[in-house]
Order: sequence, then C-alpha cells, then structure tokens
Amino acid sequence: MPKKKNNIADAFWKVFQPLPNLTVSEWAERYRVIPPMKSAEPGKWKNDRTPYLKKIMDAFNDENIEEIVFCSATQVGKTQVILNMLGYAVDFDPDSIMVVYPTEDTGRDVFRDFIDPMINSSRNLRNKKPDNANDYTLTRISFKNGATIFLAWANSPASLASKPIRYLFLDEVDKYPINAGKEASPIELAKERTSTFWNRKIVMVSTPTTESGHIWQAYEHADVQYHFYVPCPHCGHYQMLKFEQVRWENKTGTFIEAENTAYYECEKCGGKIYDHHKPKMLLKGEWRPDKRIRNYKTVAFHLSGLYSPWRTFGQFARKFLESKNQPEKLQNFVNSWLAEPWRDNTTLLKQEEAIESLKTHIQGEMGLVPSDAVALTAGVDVQADKMYFVIRAWKSDYTSWLILEGVVEDFDTLESVLFMNRYKTADGDSMAVELACIDSGFRTKEVYEFVAKHYPYARAIKGASTDLAGRPYSLPSSETKKQVGPAAPYIVNTNFYKDFIYMRMRIPPMESGSWYIYNGVSEDYLKQVTSEVRVLNKGKVRWVKRTEHAQNHLWDAEVYATVAADMLQVPFRKKNKEQKTIVVKKRKHKSNWISGGGGWL
Ligand SMILES: [Zn+2]
Repeated sequence: MPKKKNNIADAFWKVFQPLPNLTVSEWAERYRVIPPMKSAEPGKWKNDRTPYLKKIMDAFNDENIEEIVFCSATQVGKTQVILNMLGYAVDFDPDSIMVVYPTEDTGRDVFRDFIDPMINSSRNLRNKKPDNANDYTLTRISFKNGATIFLAWANSPASLASKPIRYLFLDEVDKYPINAGKEASPIELAKERTSTFWNRKIVMVSTPTTESGHIWQAYEHADVQYHFYVPCPHCGHYQMLKFEQVRWENKTGTFIEAENTAYYECEKCGGKIYDHHKPKMLLKGEWRPDKRIRNYKTVAFHLSGLYSPWRTFGQFARKFLESKNQPEKLQNFVNSWLAEPWRDNTTLLKQEEAIESLKTHIQGEMGLVPSDAVALTAGVDVQADKMYFVIRAWKSDYTSWLILEGVVEDFDTLESVLFMNRYKTADGDSMAVELACIDSGFRTKEVYEFVAKHYPYARAIKGASTDLAGRPYSLPSSETKKQVGPAAPYIVNTNFYKDFIYMRMRIPPMESGSWYIYNGVSEDYLKQVTSEVRVLNKGKVRWVKRTEHAQNHLWDAEVYATVAADMLQVPFRKKNKEQKTIVVKKRKHKSNWISGGGGWL
C-alpha cells in the first residue's frame, strides 16, 4: 500500500525511523512517561503495575490480529491501553490513525487530559510534533514523521467520514449513539475507513452496559475470548476473580464494617486472600482463552475491576451494599465495577414469576389508608368504553399503599370513586383523593370537561413522545392553556415514572420507600401491572409490552397516580391531623359501578 508523502521532512523521518522491533508494552516501558496531572501514579510507565494490560497491548503487534476488543471495568487502566498503542503507532509505525469518542466533549477532555500530555511528556513523541500550530489541533495532529491522528465523535457522521484510516481506536463504545445521524452505526461507519488497509488494526474499548450493547456484542462475537487467571497465594490454584468469592462481615449492618472485614476466598482451598496479596498474584497472572477459532482475527479480553491494583476487596463489598437495593446503582456496580452487562432478572422474569414477586409486597386491606399516609392520589387510564383507576396512599419517603383499583364505565361513576368518597384511615380518621391525574390521549374532550369540573383536584396528562430533556413532566404550554383552560394537559415522561415504580417495587417490604398492594387485589390488576418489561438499550430505557395484545391500563393508571404524588411533592408533606379536606358537592350519580364494575365494595 503506497503512502502519500507530504514533503521532504516526512521522507527524512521515515528513512531514519528505527525498526519497530519493540512491542507496545516494551515501547511504553521504554518511552512512556505519565505526567503528574490526572494520574494516581505519574512517572515512567511500568508494566508490572498492571501486568494484565501487557498481553492486550501486545496483541497490537500480532500480525494475525485485526481487531482487539477490551471489555473492562473502570479503574483498571483501560485508557492507558489506547494511549500506549497510539504512542507506539505514532512513534514506530506511522500511518493514519483515528480515535473515536462518544461526543466532542469527551474527545476534548481526553485530548486535554491524556493525549496532549502524553505527547509532551514522552521525548520520542515530542520530537515528532509538527512545527506549525495548524497541524496540531483537537481534530487533527500531523506529526513530522507522517503519522496523523484524527479525533472524531461518534455522534457526528461528518467527523467519521472520508479519510482512509489504518489504525482505528473506538473508546467507550457503549456510550455511542445507535446511529450516527441518519446514517449507519457509527462503528460501522468508522470501520469502513479501514477497509483499504490489509494491515489495519481496530481497537474497541468500553465498560459494558447491556448484553445488546456494542462492547458485549463485539466480545461475544470475537474469535477468541480471554479471561485473566491468577494463582491463590496459599494453594497456587489458578482462578478468575469473581465477586461471589468476596466475603465480609456485616453484624452491625454498617458498610464500614463490611469494608474493613472483606477478603477474597480462594475457590479451591478456601484460604483468605487479602489486598496485599494482589500485586504478586497479578504478576503471575495469565490470560487464558475460553473459546478459540483457528486463524483468528479478532481477540477479546474481559477484565473485572477486582483485578485493579487501585481498588480493594472492601471497596467492592461496600459499593455492593450501597447499591444493591437501587436498580440504577446496582447496574452501575455491575457494569463499571464488575465489567458485566446488566442482565435484569426482574424484567426477565416470566409474568407468573413477576406476579409472585409482586405478591410479596402485600400489606393491609382494600380501602383502608395506613395512619402514616400524608396524601391520597389517583391515576386514571381512559379507554373507549371503560376507565381504569387506582388510588394510592403516600408517605413522605414515597412509601406507598394501593388503596383501591378497579374499572368503571362512565365519568359519573369515576367522579364518585375519586371525589365523593373519603377513605378511612387506620387511626379512625378519613382522607380524600387530593389529586387525580387522568390520561387525555383518548376521549380528550370528555376528559377535559371532567378535569375542568374538578380542577385543581384533577389534572389532564398526556404521555410524552420525547424524553423531555430529562424532566419527569412538563407544564402545559401557554398556547394550550389559552385554548383548553385549566384542563390543559401536563406532558409526562412515562418511562421515567415506570422506572420510579419499578425501583420501588424492588425495595424489600418494610424498608423505607417500599411499594405495596393490598390483600385480595384482583387477578386483572396483577396481570396488567406486570404486563410490560423494561428494556435498556444503549443507555436508553423503554418499557414495552410483553405481548402485543397485553392489557396494561392499570399499569398506566399506577404511573399517573405516581405522577400525581410527584406533583403534590409528597416528600415535603408532614402528617397533619388538620389535613386539608376536600369538599365535594353531593350530587346524584349512577351507582352501577358498585355492583357492575370491579365489585370492590
Ligand atoms: Zn487456594
């Protein structure tokens, strides 16, 4: 493959280029200096500190290997893997290089904090810096020896396009968008740039997100998959480090006790392995392949944070205990600390299993409000011939109890359930529904009339088609307010509230913030509330029905009742005997819902 020579200086550098007879890890040890900024351990690069990185880096020198995949935890040195390969390529085998970051902001940060300091602190690279400042920019560095680094962003198809690239580095790929603008996947787009080079190298690095994320897919489809094995200091048995083997004491129930008592138990001899054993174990460690295909071209490495010389077993125990009851935090622990994809067992539960799990959250009786509730809210999902509703009681920590669920056939009946009833509290008092959120996506005009009549105790809402820039709900626009009046709908990010409920459902009963249903709740309710599953893909959450025709109206009603609790700001509520009572005018209403509807009285 002939290369274009820019000028005489380039030619000169090529001729006097020493032969690349070092591997990347040897190059790093000889030439790489870590500047004091942004690093726990500045100074000359030492392979012995993170011995597991050596084989990954040296895969870059293996002529047979075209693609290197590194699925890893944070805090193991994965940024340095790319930097050392980059430095080596510039110094020893100059050609066109592209490094892709998820966004321009991350690219700018990495350039400022790592790439630029690396070039300036390593003599071999510094000597090759271009004289002209225009050749040394964020998006392009053209070295004197013919090496060029292009920085690109996965969310910008333009930056990924057009140049032929021999070395492609894809960093934090699980943060890439699914598509780059209207075009194909940013990874495919970038890979196309390398197609003319027989000796191309593609390096893909990330902490994983889900099994369908970029890095886990690349990992699973690699020809060879390596795991790191280290020997037990007591019996010498080689094993992969797994979080299941971390042990701790938790008598006082404090995280600090767990952190201070943690150790790793050898899977063979049961011997206690402590943090001070780790450096020696790492030095004797070996990468062993799980599966191997002959004539392999892609190799994948998986590394848990348990191997990190900068993290203790105690920190793992503590982080786990701090995260275990909150799905978002637990996912972060699984992804960033263990380098495992998030396999959500709850949403992967079959519906029958999900229902059984829900039944462990039964507390109290239908229609009876616990004495420490600070508010009652309702949610209503409106269909062509029916309206599904739930009424829920809330404590200020968002602990909540289902008070009533059911289905009614007309707005008069709905009015009596929501606004003409007070619900008995356990301490002999009673409470009224303070806010009902009613879906206005369907039978819109009737919903508006109903809401206007009961304003401010009722609000119309509408599911959002976007993620509302991260907000849970947004106020009606002044335009709709003008047209519709007080019934103008609030726009709600339903995925956000479904996540919120889902998180509450997973808090064990009796703990703060737990989510309850009552004894004798209908089969229909159980089915509808478990009718959807949470799908997390490329960092975006969506809730989808298990089956196309599943009924999910009571699940939606739960979402709207939760929106209402959020609007009332229940965390700021205090239990107050003189609680605001809602005066409802007595009016005649059809009573067919008592016998005909849910039959709940
Ligand atoms: Zn052992």
